[in-house]
Amino acid sequence: MDLFGSLLLVILLIVLTYYFWHALIESATQSSRTVALLEEIRDLLKQQAESAQEKDKKEITESEGGETCPGCGATVLATHMECPDCGLTLRTDE
Ligand SMILES: [Zn+2]
Repeated sequence: MDLFGSLLLVILLIVLTYYFWHALIESATQSSRTVALLEEIRDLLKQQAESAQEKDKKEITESEGGETCPGCGATVLATHMECPDCGLTLRTDE
């Protein structure tokens, strides 16, 4: 192998190494972006679930203006004819 050939080989190796590192760094950056995005989505879902739970709690406290089922102790609305939990008849139409 002459000098020109080995020089060409060295340049080729440098270029290949450059592309290798470039691709490696780029993929690392992309995956960290994906992780950040996933964390963001997870946080959003968490917030949504928490706000939904708070809403449910609020609905229960609002319905405390109703009654407590004598059969099972569940909170029932004044509009309920029977307990949605145990099916006990709370009132009859008159
Ligand atoms: Zn009940």
